Amino acid sequence: MDSSVYVFVEDLRGEGVDKVLDRVAGYGTAGITVGAVHHGSRDVTPHGLSRLTLRHDGAHFVPPHDLFSGLRLTPVPGYADALDGVREACSKRGLKLHGWTVFLRNLTLGTRHPDVTVRDCFGDRGSLTDLCPAHPDVREYAVALARSVARLGVDSVVAESLHFRPLRPERSFVPLGPMDNYLFGLCFCDYCMRRATDLGVNAEVARDECARIVGGVFDGDPAAQGEVTRAALTAYAGPDVVAYARARSETVTTLVSEVASAVAEEGSKLVFIDYTGSVKGYRDGLPSPGLAAHDAWQLGVDLVALGDLVPAFGVLAYARDAARVADDVGAYLRSVGKDREVRAVLRPGYPDSDSTDRLVAKALGAKAAGASAVDFYAYGLVPHPVLERIPAALNEAS
Ligand SMILES: [Zn+2]
Repeated sequence: MDSSVYVFVEDLRGEGVDKVLDRVAGYGTAGITVGAVHHGSRDVTPHGLSRLTLRHDGAHFVPPHDLFSGLRLTPVPGYADALDGVREACSKRGLKLHGWTVFLRNLTLGTRHPDVTVRDCFGDRGSLTDLCPAHPDVREYAVALARSVARLGVDSVVAESLHFRPLRPERSFVPLGPMDNYLFGLCFCDYCMRRATDLGVNAEVARDECARIVGGVFDGDPAAQGEVTRAALTAYAGPDVVAYARARSETVTTLVSEVASAVAEEGSKLVFIDYTGSVKGYRDGLPSPGLAAHDAWQLGVDLVALGDLVPAFGVLAYARDAARVADDVGAYLRSVGKDREVRAVLRPGYPDSDSTDRLVAKALGAKAAGASAVDFYAYGLVPHPVLERIPAALNEAS
């Protein structure tokens, strides 16, 4: 069974490339998935150079000039030399190298160019972190970024945030329900409105309806209870809003298609990860009931359409329960096609896995459901004893 460990460039800089790769190879893992383009964050890093790591938005390589000349959006410079020699060091140990690329989550670019970020139903651009996939400049940037990572000589480009992103405010003392939050997170920028209109959707009615409902909650109306489903959303917000939300998949499908083709032209392949599994289980490993594959449409991700365009998918199987991991992988394969490569991304420790046995059970569950690979997230975020669970999981699942 194929496998990898997610690794941050800060891990490589902190412990040194050889030390990290020796450890990863020692676990019996087939490769690493290295964060070539990452977003800013502040993380507890138990065995890092410092125990708290502040990451910045950044592309950790020198962007090829020919790809970005003439483009308005260009990569935010990161550690330009962080990946020097990593390809060779992987080859020497028989490890594959995958290039983990965060596409549309970028506060630095959004702050510099607010007009390319998402705009809510009130006309505000409050999520400068989130670049809109419908904006032509964002789409050009995404294709060029994917090409540049592919040119690093990676076995695959692993795409994160190449779709609409969920709204996750850090603070809210308004009791917005899941559906209110969803409506508040929809983008109504000019490009999104135009695309929906072209598909026959009454985009203005959808926007006004969202503003009326969310505005009502801000004024003291009770929030809607219950998870987001098409039926519940239709009942709550009406058919125009649902049609608008569904129209977003055309924006995402065409973008992912362009990126997948560009990556293939550069001699690599795209692994597409949608964020739904993380939305559901990130906090505590207890995902909400609907399977990720069934709810991915909410972020504009049409897995059935993407199954024809993308060779491989990553499933964020952030769950404590091995049966849930298997269910998520199975549902994904049914959506994207049984012949597609599906990789289950597992967290080997807190909050998903409290023991080696539990991690083993989840790797076995993923395999039984048809996963071709398990990936472990992430090297620098978990203590060494937790990483030591990986060999047992790989042995049992091989
Ligand atoms: Zn938009």
